[in-house]
Amino acid sequence: MTDMDALSGRDLVAIIKAMADAVQDQRDYLAALDSMIGDGDHGANIVRAMTAASTQVAALESPTPAVVLRTTGRTIINEMGGAAGVIFGSFFRGGGRAVVDYERIDVHGLSMIMDAGLAEVQKRGGAKPGGKTMVDALVPAVQAMHAAAAANLPIAEAVRAAAESAKAGAEATTGMIARFGRAKYLGERSLGYQDAGATSVAIMLAAWAREIED
Ligand code: ADP
Ligand code: MG
Repeated sequence: MTDMDALSGRDLVAIIKAMADAVQDQRDYLAALDSMIGDGDHGANIVRAMTAASTQVAALESPTPAVVLRTTGRTIINEMGGAAGVIFGSFFRGGGRAVVDYERIDVHGLSMIMDAGLAEVQKRGGAKPGGKTMVDALVPAVQAMHAAAAANLPIAEAVRAAAESAKAGAEATTGMIARFGRAKYLGERSLGYQDAGATSVAIMLAAWAREIED
């Protein structure tokens, strides 16, 4: 990273690649999670979407943060398909809209991206916390980012805190009954399994944290 306390659009391009590599590494695990309470395609879906997004943003001529985030969101929606594609893509698209005209993103910008991304995910998918979806990883990550911004933490620490909160949030979905997505049809039989989409969110935030720390 060029500057530890603010991310450029080029830094975000590298972060999207790190996220794509991380879900690729965890593809089989994500597929296995989705096969327990879904249809088993989440590993393939998120890898296809993030790999395509990484290729698209690498080809941008002037990658401002907003353009990188919006291109990522649009590519996920197109490549991943289905309701989940719209929901995952909306996070990045909504996040990008929050930082139009920003050259660099500091901890306050990150907090705005996370807020706007979560709002868009909930607007599109309607999921509430506790419903065993990616929202259960995003909500604690957003809260950690708010706290980090209020304390003016360096972005590396802020993203690390968000990643750890997302991981705990994803793990907590094991004890939840699914209220949204395919798993909701299982009702109580969805108990005891970790949600695949929440796990993807945690994996991608962890990759982001590692990329900034390097
Ligand atoms: P599909 O459900 O179409 O097979 P995926 O398997 O790729 O798509 O993604 C499933 C993930 O999508 C779930 O694990 C969950 O985290 C997320 N998801 C499903 N419905 C919603 C929703 N309404 N809001 C937020 N996330 C959702
Ligand atoms: Mg699926």
